Amino acid sequence: MNNVYFSDLHAEHGNNLEDKFRRIVKATGFIDTIEKDELVAIKLHVGERGNLGYLNHNYARLLVEEIRSAGGKPYLTDTNTLYSGGRHNGVDHTITAGQHGFSLATTGAPFIPADGIRGTTYREVPVPGGKQLEKAKLAEGILQADRVIFLNHLKGHEQAGFGGSVKNMAMGCASVPGKMEQHSNSKPVVDSGACIGCRNCYRVCPADAIAMVEKKAAIDYELCIGCGQCVAACNYEAMNPRWDSGHEIFIEKMAEYAWAVHSYFGDRACYVTLALNITPDCDCFPANDAPIVEDVGMLASLNPFALDRAAIDLASGAQPNKASRFAGKIKGGGNPFLQLYEKFDNEHVFAHLSSLGAVLDYDLKRMK
Ligand code: SF4
Ligand code: SF4
Repeated sequence: MNNVYFSDLHAEHGNNLEDKFRRIVKATGFIDTIEKDELVAIKLHVGERGNLGYLNHNYARLLVEEIRSAGGKPYLTDTNTLYSGGRHNGVDHTITAGQHGFSLATTGAPFIPADGIRGTTYREVPVPGGKQLEKAKLAEGILQADRVIFLNHLKGHEQAGFGGSVKNMAMGCASVPGKMEQHSNSKPVVDSGACIGCRNCYRVCPADAIAMVEKKAAIDYELCIGCGQCVAACNYEAMNPRWDSGHEIFIEKMAEYAWAVHSYFGDRACYVTLALNITPDCDCFPANDAPIVEDVGMLASLNPFALDRAAIDLASGAQPNKASRFAGKIKGGGNPFLQLYEKFDNEHVFAHLSSLGAVLDYDLKRMK
């Protein structure tokens, strides 16, 4: 259960990256468990419009081929976003997915939004032992799958600190009400003494929650959805997460959503993480800066939490990328996401998962 299969990105004729990707996925044993005609969801992120850092659709195609050859019926899926953009409803989301290569024609499986046209098709699922929540509002289109493969992209995240398995399960499987529930205690605060009125936060806010008042940013908390994009956009440390319990509660809720998903699917789920093109921001950001560290490789496991732990540990040994705008901030030899988003303690997610009963230890199996 705690094996994490890893392959680096060296490739050659007769052993290319497709071969290596298939090998680590098959090594988990998950493909062999698929039974004839089972509906198998591939939960992924198709990337926001304007972002080109998301995963290549061919990784999804390879999973589709493996699932089909095992007798299953694969489909690609994701949930709609809280904020406006190219994935805010099922129609726009499907169009964006197609434009980014995630279509029936390109992968061999249809893209089907998991929480319906407006993001409100969900079911409440228990959070065993939850501290913040008793139930999670999860998208029906994922819950109704017989099995699921989570295809994760390791990258930074402007509020969670990093994105990988936990983020893809928690925010990624939540309906719009579920996303609100996770975000609702994590709204930022303006340090008006530090604010120079550059309007960067005003421009990126997806909820029109920021006004410029006497050349200072001001947040309307009735409109703010706590997405954190303004924090990432501010270069002057004037837009900050609240240092009261807001961020910690957000992280714990996110961990509990992921725990609910894991508890619901049990051994009917497999997790694959591509630690490459490790951008500073999430694929939901409408732009992608250069990666913060060099590419690491590909990982697969039946344990999503050990998988995230292993991916971060491997990224901690990666060389910083001199072309990144964060060159100098990322030192190498430590958790790069902690170095990048020092305001956010992204290790807290592991501590909370551990308190819920998640196993984080792993046995790294290096594969050719
Ligand atoms: S967190 Fe910032 S960017 Fe996000 S909705 Fe609130 S004010 Fe806007
Ligand atoms: S990005 Fe920062 S400095 Fe610029 S207006 Fe917003 S809070 Fe002020």
